[in-house]
Formats: sequence, C-alpha cells, structure tokens
Amino acid sequence: MPRVVVIGAGQAGASVVAKLRAEGFEGAITLIGDEPVPPYQRPPLSKKYLLGDMALERLYLRPERFYPEADIDLRLGSAVTGIDRAAKEVVIGQERLGYDDLVLATGSLPRRLPASIGGDLGGVHVVRTLGDVDAMAPGFVPGARVLIVGGGYIGLEAAAVAASCGMQVVLVEMGERILQRVAAKETSDYFRALHARHGVDIREGIGLERLMGEGQVSGARLSDGSALSLDMVIVGVGITPDTALAEAAGLEIDNGIAVDAMGRTSDPSIWAIGDCASFPYKGGRLRLESVPNAIDMGDCVAGNIMGKEVAYVPRPWFWSDQYDVKLQIAGLNTGYDRIVTRAAEGEDAVSFWYFKGAQLLAVDAMNDPRAYMVGKRLIDAGKTADPDLVGDASVDLKALLK
Ligand code: FAD
Repeated sequence: MPRVVVIGAGQAGASVVAKLRAEGFEGAITLIGDEPVPPYQRPPLSKKYLLGDMALERLYLRPERFYPEADIDLRLGSAVTGIDRAAKEVVIGQERLGYDDLVLATGSLPRRLPASIGGDLGGVHVVRTLGDVDAMAPGFVPGARVLIVGGGYIGLEAAAVAASCGMQVVLVEMGERILQRVAAKETSDYFRALHARHGVDIREGIGLERLMGEGQVSGARLSDGSALSLDMVIVGVGITPDTALAEAAGLEIDNGIAVDAMGRTSDPSIWAIGDCASFPYKGGRLRLESVPNAIDMGDCVAGNIMGKEVAYVPRPWFWSDQYDVKLQIAGLNTGYDRIVTRAAEGEDAVSFWYFKGAQLLAVDAMNDPRAYMVGKRLIDAGKTADPDLVGDASVDLKALLK
C-alpha cells in the first residue's frame, strides 16, 4: 500500500491530505506537525482571535475527529529532523518512517530582531503561531504602550487590534511608506489615514535602533534619535520560507523549495506546497504567502500524486481586516505603471486598479466586494478593462465584464 507522508500540519498540509482522501486515495497518509494543535487558520491570529472575538475551536480547519475518520495518521507536537532520500524515510527523533511520496509543507518563519539590539527581551513578540498570539494577548489591555515594528499587513492588523483595545500604539516603518513592498501609494495613504483616525502613531522612514530593558522590554530608541517607553513590542518584518529540511536533504532551493509546474522538487518522490515552495511563473519563479495559494497548491499536488499531471496555475487573491475595513486584493500588481481610483458608495469604500499599459493586473478593493469580484473575474480570465470606464463611478461595474 503506497504511503504519503506530509511534513507540516498547517494550511497546505491539511489541504493535501484532505484532497487525497476526497479523490479516493486508498494508501496510508501521515501528517506530521511540530505544533501541539490540529491544523488551524492563521489569518484570524492577527485579527478576530487576537481581539478575543473568536474561539479556539473555530480556528481549526477541520474538527479533530476528521483525521481519524478519514484514516489520516495525524502526529502533533512532532518535529521531523531529517530526510533520508536514499532510504525514502523521514527521521523523527529516534524513529524512521518510510514514504513513497513525501510532501514538504513546512511554511515559513517570521524574521526576528537580533539579540544585539534587544530582540531577545521579554515582551518582544512575533505573530506566526497560536502560541505566539496566546503569549501576547494578556498584554492587550487599555493604556498599555506597544511599539509595532514593520508596516506590512501583519503589523497594521496588529496595530488595529491594539488600538481597538485602547492601547497606545506607535508603528515604525523603515521604508518610505507603509505597505511599500506590496501596494501602491494610494493604498498606503488610505491605511495611514485610517490608522491616524484611530489614534495610531505611524512613523515612516524611521527604523528601530535598539530596544531597552532588563529582562523585559521597557523602551526603544528610534533611528531619528527619539525614545519611547514601552510595555510590549510586536515585530512584523516579514517571513522567510522554511527550507531547512529541504536544504539539508540537498533539494534545489530558489527563493523557497524549487518545484516544477506540477509541484515536484528536484527529487521526483518529493513535492513542496504553500509558503515554502517557489514554482515556475511567467518565465521566472514565484512564491506566494497566502491561504488560497496553500489550499490550491495542496489540491493540485494531491491530484498529481494520484497521477493527474496537472500544472499549478495560481489565481492570487488576499485579504486584510483592519477596524471596519475589509481589504480584498485580486491579482498580482508586480510591474504596474498606472493606478486608477474608483469611488464607491459606503463608508470608507473605494478601489484602486493596477494597470500595466492596457492590461489590468490587480485590484485593491476596500469595503467594495463588487469591485473585488469584478476585478478578480477579469484577471482570472486574463481579460482587461478600459481604465476610463473603471475610473467612472457612474459606469456600472458589470459593464466592465462585457
Ligand atoms: P503554515 O500554515 O505556516 O504551516 C506550516 C506548518 O509546518 C507549521 O505548523 C510549522 O510549525 C510546521 N513545520 C515546519 N517544519 C516542520 C518540521 N520539521 N516538522 C513538523 N512540522 C513542521 N494569508 C491570507 O491569504 N490572508 C490573510 O489575511 C492572512 N493573514 C495572516 C495573518 C497571520 C498572523 C499570519 C501568520 C499569516 C497570514 N496569512 C494570510 C498567510 C497564511 O496564513 C499562510 O500563507 C499559510 O498559513 C501558509 O500555509 P502553509 O501550510 O504553507 O504554512
């Protein structure tokens, strides 16, 4: 009986095992995760769960009984320490487990601040796991002073929760503007203004010089020479794909574990999916850090393990919740040369459309699900829209689909 072993019981790992069973795979499946809890969704960690608005069980991707019922051997709190490719075995401490197909779904690791600038002090947090959030949540009390390092989506979402809890929030972004790496100036301006209205002190073009404190963080010095008194620091300065096992096993790495169009690594018996994997895309390579990518790659590789030989085609989308604003993003904006703003009815509702020449690349829609839906349909179909019509709010969105 063939055996599939999956390393990493996160979003992508849960997707591939469920799809294998849904497609009728009858062999043995083992899903190994080093966290102590069943596969769960991470997005609420910096949103509803951190705010205390979501129970733990609702984070789980599937009820715990799903795994035994689907005959999936789920091993939690269990770290794979090595891969023996010649023997086709994974190493878990003293144990060895054979595989016919191995799937790497190891996700990514948050970048941390170096100890040399106080990154190892108590009260300095990252936001990646349930454990991370459970550790910081008790500090979310009115009046507490928090410094957020990094103005990406994770930092901004944490800032929104902290401000909603009545905390005093300073956010520093070393780059010229928040969201610089991922969004247009228009989107940065929108979120800067939104946070300012909620009392968040956003300082752009300013870095953290060092954190101060004896054991516990109590202050910070910023690159402009200013000083802050603090109770807590949240670091949101990006992630790196977790490629350690793959590298040690001699697999090809290229901004993540390099896979072919089917999701296969440089070893034909080993696949990689989700945050840790980079796949061929438009003549180069792409690695996405998102739930839809983790789910879809998992689905695709499950089919390919069963012999379907279907290439993975990403249909990128993403979302972020901050205060009462829901941002939905369709497409990838890389290479855009023009932004078209479309006004919308409703509080804080607007959308920004990214074009490269005449081609629509992406849409950032704030509190405007229709703009998102229409943009996504156009982008997924490889179509475009007339920028003049997009920018004219009196033109019905549906007309863009014609
Ligand atoms: P993960 O879900 O990280 O799972 C990998 C698992 O593998 C982890 O549990 C890890 O501990 C385990 N592992 C690693 N090495 C080993 C080993 N050697 N042995 C055993 N287990 C191992 N995406 C969106 O699309 N929208 C959002 O709004 C959004 N918000 C987010 C908010 C937060 C706070 C975070 C952290 C992420 C967010 N994301 C969001 C990103 C999304 O959650 C990830 O892209 C997704 O979880 C990737 O799935 P994955 O399975 O590749 O990795």
